[in-house]
Amino acid sequence: MSERVIPIISQALGSLAIPDLLGGGVQSLGLPLRDTLKRPLRDLRISVTDRCNFRCSYCMPKEIFDNDYKYLPHSALLTFEEITRAAKSFIALGVEKLRLTGGEPLLRKNIEILIEQLAALKTLDDRPLDITLTTNGSLLAKKANALKAAGLNRVTVSLDGLDDEVFKKMNDVDFPVSDVLSGIEAAKAAGLGSIKINMVVKRGTNEQEILPMAHYFRGKGVALRFIEYMDVGATNGWRMNEVVPSAEVLKTLQLEMKLTPLAPSQLGETAERWGYLNEQGLHDPALGEIGFISSVTKAFCSDCNRARLTTEGQLYLCLFATQGYDLKELIRDESQPDKLIAAIANIWTQREDRYSQLRDIEPPQLNSLGENLSKRKVEMSYIGG
Ligand code: SAM
Ligand code: SF4
Ligand code: SF4
Repeated sequence: MSERVIPIISQALGSLAIPDLLGGGVQSLGLPLRDTLKRPLRDLRISVTDRCNFRCSYCMPKEIFDNDYKYLPHSALLTFEEITRAAKSFIALGVEKLRLTGGEPLLRKNIEILIEQLAALKTLDDRPLDITLTTNGSLLAKKANALKAAGLNRVTVSLDGLDDEVFKKMNDVDFPVSDVLSGIEAAKAAGLGSIKINMVVKRGTNEQEILPMAHYFRGKGVALRFIEYMDVGATNGWRMNEVVPSAEVLKTLQLEMKLTPLAPSQLGETAERWGYLNEQGLHDPALGEIGFISSVTKAFCSDCNRARLTTEGQLYLCLFATQGYDLKELIRDESQPDKLIAAIANIWTQREDRYSQLRDIEPPQLNSLGENLSKRKVEMSYIGG
């Protein structure tokens, strides 16, 4: 067996300086705000904790995220009031969708209070925001009703297989599948709409779960999305040969079920959507749908409208960024909200990030074992997935 090199990890890679506004004030920029590639700012992902009760090998490998790992101290975390204030500034620039993530967002104490505060905000044209959350599902059975009552619209649950042995190997903390399935049922019963299930497919670990997952969720009114294992972060020992391309997943599915491609439901959608055909060969939406998130084999940077705010108030413009912009002081200073809005506007209008597209043109440097040598990317558990 090859020996894996474990890099020393620090999220403290330094922050980028907030750029000055090019030309006249924020008003002159027009809304929605657009970056250098004309992509609007629509979607804000907010990480509410860098901690997790799972140790998925592709995200928080046990060897790194052990008892000695230095998580953020409580004093560094944005409070709920600060997160809400930050969200307001992003909304003032065109954001319409908020996704809470982490780490495991349901570990953040009283998360429903934050959801209540966010649900009271409105889009620029006075519509309710789309508020959603990505979770490993471990605490969902307990919390689904409270989340719905607080104003959460939707939920995405991560589940990498139906076989307990395979799933436990993925989460690495011996967590059983049945508890996640109960969480999904509880979310449905609570009335959380349009439930999505995320399955990361890793070659040699869980590709045998593709068909069982599709059969299980067909007819259950959820969208099952297959995610290509990504070279995000610097600790998961990512190798290209462990990526199962979406095209291969689709072929596997088509061996046993009839599928039809669907149009994207909105601009900036990360998943390519497919629907199930019924016995008569007609698309039946009641059966749910399948999605493919192909960030390795098919870049979707050209309409990426997502910004990410970390637990401690750093703004990241790309999942694969190495540095963020430190907004914490501006968020904490209640007296000049316009300054925060101007800072975000400055940063977004000068955004150039398109890592996946560039990866296609200039693939990452790999060593002889096929491991990615670009070791300075920030961790997904910190930045929020
Ligand atoms: N803990 C929550 C969860 O697992 O749903 C939220 C945070 S997690 C970082 C968000 C999503 O990122 C999950 O669906 C997870 O499967 C996905 N993810 C994490 N590391 C990944 C990787 N290396 N490649 C692809 N997806 C990954
Ligand atoms: Fe935790 Fe989610 Fe990362 Fe798994 S993918 S370790 S559940 S943050
Ligand atoms: Fe967006 Fe970066 Fe992913 Fe491209 S690589 S889709 S810019 S997050």
